[in-house]
Amino acid sequence: MSKVYTIASGKGGVGKTTIATNLAVSLNRMRKKTVVVDADMAMGGIATVLGLDETPVTLHELLAGKGSLEKAIYSTRGVDVLPSGPTVAGFLKADPKKLKGVVDKLTKTYDCVIIDSPPGLSKYSLAPLKNADEVLLVVTPDFPAVQATAKLLSVFAAIKANVRGVVVNRFKKPSFFARLAGAKELVMRNEDIERRLRAKILGIIPEDPTVIESIAVKKPVVVYRPKSPASKAISALARKLIRVS
Ligand code: ADP
Ligand code: MG
Repeated sequence: MSKVYTIASGKGGVGKTTIATNLAVSLNRMRKKTVVVDADMAMGGIATVLGLDETPVTLHELLAGKGSLEKAIYSTRGVDVLPSGPTVAGFLKADPKKLKGVVDKLTKTYDCVIIDSPPGLSKYSLAPLKNADEVLLVVTPDFPAVQATAKLLSVFAAIKANVRGVVVNRFKKPSFFARLAGAKELVMRNEDIERRLRAKILGIIPEDPTVIESIAVKKPVVVYRPKSPASKAISALARKLIRVS
């Protein structure tokens, strides 16, 4: 049976796109046929991150009722991707309500559909949430990121979103000197994150420079450096997701 996972967060820049893309590659390697959908309709950048230069048909066209789904899916770097479009004009013509039709079709051919979403609260972030079987919340372990995501909890309840769990990204242990300077106050403890978000932590992805390098070389980090700490953590998260599903 097919499963749709939406990767969501209150705040931008916390790692949704990185996790969505690498999770998709990891799931594919685990013999789950997977597609990653870039539903960050305004600012989506999965195509760029994966080195896809030419994307004549994208989610923008599909959400405007144009183009075929088959033509909007590109295979690159070990993953099938349905990219968002590059232009503002395309974004303005895209109707997020049409996402359901696209996702329904994808579930007929894929075991897993990973939807990367825009941050915050808007009709554009709601559409991916409404179409998810399970929602994964991505936060960095700091108060602003966790607070912003906590704000969405009432929305999740209203639309009956099924939050599977939390992924803590860019985790780093404070150094001895940082602790001396009181930096631990800035890092939220796992128990506090779980309590605030009323959900369990499913994975902890460390801060890892190979993630930044992988973006520079336009490859998913699990392809570029499969043994790096971040890659291992994302693969473990993928295993955990499918083990119980
Ligand atoms: P979002 O989609 O939530 O806006 P991104 O996945 O685009 O966030 O991540 C933003 C930036 O953060 C990336 O370009 C990358 O440089 C950096 N980043 C994300 N995860 C990590 C990590 N685990 N270690 C180091 N840098 C990271
Ligand atoms: Mg993103």
